[in-house]
Amino acid sequence: MTVTAPHAPPAAPMTPHPFVVQRALRETDDTFTLELAADRGFEPLAFRPGQFNMLYVFGVGEVPISISGDPATPQTLVHTTRVVGATTRAMGQLKRGDQLGVRGPFGTAWPVEEAEGQDVLFVAGGIGLAPLRPALYRVLARRERYGRVVLLYGARTPDDILFRRELRNWRADFDLEVHVTVDRATREWLMSPTMSIRLPSRSPSFSRKVNPSSSAWVGCSCAPSPALTTNPFTCRARKWGAPEAG
Ligand SMILES: Cc1cc2nc3c(=O)[nH]c(=O)nc-3n(C[C@H](O)[C@H](O)[C@H](O)COP(=O)(O)OP(=O)(O)OC[C@H]3O[C@@H](n4cnc5c(N)ncnc54)[C@H](O)[C@@H]3O)c2cc1C
Repeated sequence: MTVTAPHAPPAAPMTPHPFVVQRALRETDDTFTLELAADRGFEPLAFRPGQFNMLYVFGVGEVPISISGDPATPQTLVHTTRVVGATTRAMGQLKRGDQLGVRGPFGTAWPVEEAEGQDVLFVAGGIGLAPLRPALYRVLARRERYGRVVLLYGARTPDDILFRRELRNWRADFDLEVHVTVDRATREWLMSPTMSIRLPSRSPSFSRKVNPSSSAWVGCSCAPSPALTTNPFTCRARKWGAPEAG
C-alpha cells in the first residue's frame, strides 16, 4: 500500500471517519494506547511526526490526541492517552472491535528532515513522550543520517514511565542515548541497572557527555515548561521544533 504524507490540511477536516480498535494496551495506571485501523471502505491516514487527530467517542465527546505510532506504518493508527476527564475516560474503556471517529491529521511536524546531518536532542516529560515517539521512529529508521541522538525523559515515578520496553530496546539496538529520570525513585528503580537515573542538569559527567552548545543540535521537546526553561542543556540547544495545533 502506498500512502503519501499530506502537506495540506485534510480534504474534509470536519468529517470524522470511522476507525476500529485493533488493540487496546494499558501503559500505566492512567495511560493507555489504542491501535486503530480504518473501517472498511476508508483509507488509512498518512501523517507526519508531531501531528494529532481529533478522536470522537460516540455520544461522549471529541478530543485532540497526538499520533504516537510509526509514520512508516500508517495502516495502524496509534494514539497514547492519559485519562483526565469524561472523553479520555470513555476512550480508555474501548475494546477490540469498538469504533470511534477520527478526523485529521492536523498540526505541524517535528523538523526531523531538516535535522539530517545534525545532532538531535529529544526532551520529553510524562505523556509528552507519546507525541515525540513518531519523530524518534523516523530518526531511528534513518539513523545513519544523524549525528548524536539523545533522549532525555522525565516521569513522576518509575511506574509512570511510558514505553519502558521500547526505551530499553532503543538503547540496546540503536546508537541512541536514553537518559530517564524520575521525581520519586523507588528502591527497585535505584537498584535497576537498565535505566540511568541521574538528573542530567546536576551530573557533571552527563554535562560533559551532552553539551548542546558544542555543536549544531536540533531539539524536539514535549515537556512541562519548567523542564525546558530550567534545564541548561535544553536551553542551549540551538534550534527547536515544537508542533502547534494548526
Ligand atoms: C494538540 C493536542 C495534542 C494532545 N495530545 C495528547 C496526547 O497525545 N495524549 C494525551 O493524553 N493528551 C493529549 N492532549 C490533551 C487532551 O486533548 C486532553 O487531555 C483531553 O482533551 C481531555 O478531555 P476529557 O474530555 O477527557 O477531559 P475534560 O473533561 O475536558 O477535562 C479536562 C480537565 O478538566 C478536569 N476536569 C474534568 N472534569 C472535571 C470536574 N468535574 N471538575 C473539575 N475538573 C474537572 C480534568 O481533571 C482535566 O484536568 C492533547 C491536546 C492538544 C491540544
